[in-house]
Amino acid sequence: MTLLAGLDVLGLGARDVAIRDGLVVEPDGTERRVDCSGLIGLPALVDPHTHLRDPGPGTAETIETGSLAAARGGYGAVCAMPNTVPVADTAEICEYERRRGEEVGLVDVVPIGAVTRGELGERLADIAGMGAVGVRMFSDDGRCVARSDVMRDALTEIGRLGGVLAQHSQDPLLTVGGQVDAGVAESLGMPGWPGMAESVIVARDAIMAAELGCRVHACHVSTAATVAVVRWAKAQGYPITAEATPHHLMLDHSTAHTGDPAYKVNPPLRSVADVEAIRAALVDGTIDVVGTDHAPHAPETKRTDWCEASMGMLGLETALAVVAELFVVTGRLAWADVADRMSYAPARLVGITGHGRPIEVGAPASLCLVDPRRTWRTHGRDLASIAENTPYEGMEFSTRVVATLLRGRVTYDLDSRFA
Ligand SMILES: [Zn+2]
Repeated sequence: MTLLAGLDVLGLGARDVAIRDGLVVEPDGTERRVDCSGLIGLPALVDPHTHLRDPGPGTAETIETGSLAAARGGYGAVCAMPNTVPVADTAEICEYERRRGEEVGLVDVVPIGAVTRGELGERLADIAGMGAVGVRMFSDDGRCVARSDVMRDALTEIGRLGGVLAQHSQDPLLTVGGQVDAGVAESLGMPGWPGMAESVIVARDAIMAAELGCRVHACHVSTAATVAVVRWAKAQGYPITAEATPHHLMLDHSTAHTGDPAYKVNPPLRSVADVEAIRAALVDGTIDVVGTDHAPHAPETKRTDWCEASMGMLGLETALAVVAELFVVTGRLAWADVADRMSYAPARLVGITGHGRPIEVGAPASLCLVDPRRTWRTHGRDLASIAENTPYEGMEFSTRVVATLLRGRVTYDLDSRFA
């Protein structure tokens, strides 16, 4: 039995949280006290959007290294995108990911199944087969389910499972060769990735989701126009949710002028006005969840010319610090809201019942302990991932995850508090 003494649960005041057999229980006075004064207690975070690159070549990330990154970021569960090698488009591969996650034992790996075979956008994957082994979220992330007839058939099948389709919203015909946000493309002399390529797909998907009775989730919303579309769709009662990444909340398209591929991502970083629209949407709930889109890339694919470089950024170990810096330090969100956007709402989205629960007696003791006055600097070389492609290199944050518990087991303990 362990007693987390003086833990400030959700920033609502210090109390003692007792843990036994993996659950939060009533204290009985026999517990070993662990001093948690000054720490904020949140439910362990849930990432609806992680790239673990496993199965794969192991040059950027594996389930082992990605699980460690997740634990260090305060996560108790991560949903693994299926653009692996091979693509997770069968029950067997999804089962492998879940089992490998259990073997590593640091975080629950929740497989996301591909919508189409090989993520090629043409023929549906075995959605029913993956559904039979418990998969409830499907995505071709990295690619858009662009064909409307394929989207129709996918929503019909996923709807039967009560699942959700997570869309990488990008009209491929509007983004051919796209390298940077259209707003800076001309000054950089590079092909632009226009915002409308995203918002038109989200609008289409919202309408189709309503008509076909299947939930749709808009991944990594990057523009003010998409926020307006989501707000409109929700006002109609359409079954849509939306996600923001830490990098689209913190960084804007001016970073492209550095020429550093660390800032190259899909969708690209957008204008300051877009960034503010996404922040406001996370505050007012139009955007439901924060998803990291943690995208490790082997160093040689990032240390190259912008146009050749891979798209994506690491995110698991910095997500909470970014959100705290932007929203809690500034007073725009309370810790309880952070728990909602980064744990409760993502767990609901994916249908994970063992996570995203309030810290109360009877709940699984899966917790994230945060020091709100702990200054630290990010360096890619210090992160647990094999890859080092953080867009926050050298950046200082005032808040840090210091420990993570998964069903009562300590999966991360920066200060050896539990030793
Ligand atoms: Zn994506």
